[in-house]
Amino acid sequence: MRYYSTRSRSDPVNFATAALTGLAPDGGLFIPEEIPVYSEKVKRSLGTMDFHDIAFETITPYVHPEIPASVLEDLVHSAYPFPAPLVPVGDRLVLELFHGPTAAFKDFGARFMARAFSYLRRGEDKPLRILVATSGDTGGAVADGFYGVEGISVTVLYPKGRVTPLQERQIAGLGGNISALAVEGSFDDCQGLVKAALSDEGLKKRLTLSSANSINVARLIPQAVYYSAAAGKALAGKTDPDGEATPRLPGKSASPGAAHGVKAGTPLTICVPSGNFGNLTAGLYALKMGAPIAGFIAATNINKAVPDYLDTGEYNARQSQATISNAMDVGAPSNFERMKSHWPLEELRRMIRGVHINDEDTRKTIVAVHEANGYFLDPHGAVGWRAADILDKGSEPVKGPLAVLATAHPAKFAETVEPLTGPVPAPASIQSALGRTVSARVIPAELSAFMDSL
Ligand SMILES: *Cc1c(COP(=O)(O)O)cnc(C)c1O
Repeated sequence: MRYYSTRSRSDPVNFATAALTGLAPDGGLFIPEEIPVYSEKVKRSLGTMDFHDIAFETITPYVHPEIPASVLEDLVHSAYPFPAPLVPVGDRLVLELFHGPTAAFKDFGARFMARAFSYLRRGEDKPLRILVATSGDTGGAVADGFYGVEGISVTVLYPKGRVTPLQERQIAGLGGNISALAVEGSFDDCQGLVKAALSDEGLKKRLTLSSANSINVARLIPQAVYYSAAAGKALAGKTDPDGEATPRLPGKSASPGAAHGVKAGTPLTICVPSGNFGNLTAGLYALKMGAPIAGFIAATNINKAVPDYLDTGEYNARQSQATISNAMDVGAPSNFERMKSHWPLEELRRMIRGVHINDEDTRKTIVAVHEANGYFLDPHGAVGWRAADILDKGSEPVKGPLAVLATAHPAKFAETVEPLTGPVPAPASIQSALGRTVSARVIPAELSAFMDSL
């Protein structure tokens, strides 16, 4: 596959270059020259295929020929030893994407990326430095994914005081080849610093740099996998039993397949809690590849530049505002540039409906879903649930099955969830991270301070 910058159709690069450099030389984001489509056979089999086989079929065309089939096969197995269950909750479905080591969906992209980088750089002796800006969850997933990988070090920038204590421990508690910078500013400041450093000629001469934000295609592409897997299942009328860490009160489990609305043969509508819009962009790739997806709901908190764009046709990036769904506090979503470059407004409007939700309604939703179904949503999943409610009860209700992505485990946001629901059982990965000591350097949100720290 060849990749172009969102800003020009010249100088295509291969997957290895797009992944390892992160950002195109002109400051644009890499996008695939075309979105591949599944074979008819794969399309028909999505409902019965194993997750790893779907991962293999989905990722192959994007990484061909730099990552050979046998390597990719091993890679997807070692990256995904955990499930992505599609569980019934009330009259809809929840796609649980938090069964990985850092309890958020970012593990899907970060674990693939770490393994892909390690393979693509085999035999290199100059070390690689990865810069990553995080609003909370990316940093932990990338740190965990790359921890101990030889020849690669990671610098994570996070907005000081705006991530949870657990997130801070996941980012700044590992040490080793992972260093953490607490930036006195917002996520957008952190992202701005990374972008500026990646295009600084002086720095590029001194260090081999890459980025691990969802601006990197190597993180984006593997996220298409769970959309196809979930949509295939729903089309076949299937759901999954609860996973080991499914946050549901005992005795409340719905039996698989029993959920109202999961009838074989109807494509799935998927609600995606969104911040930087990497996850939703990956969903659009899955749809275009031929996964049986009816459409998307883009659910944001009050940082709503994309829902506003879908409404008005005008895009205004803003300062981000702090909310209880902090991983979505993004005022200028990076992947908007990708979405715009692939599809005109009218087509985006056909595929996506946008809704934004405030903190008060997010809290009410956590309470309501817990009371009605014994199920714990995290604040991001609750934004999604509520957005789906609004559309479903509006003038154009969703036809067919509807899945909300649960992007993080509720125990990851215990400070917000527990006062509303009582204690949330924490998975083992969260319990062990809580025991780590934070070691981060504090810097002002200025390029010179950032450069000096590298
Ligand atoms: C990162 C994140 C999001 C937002 O995903 P984007 O790809 O940035 O839109 C939503 N929920 C959680 C829990 C996250 O960590």
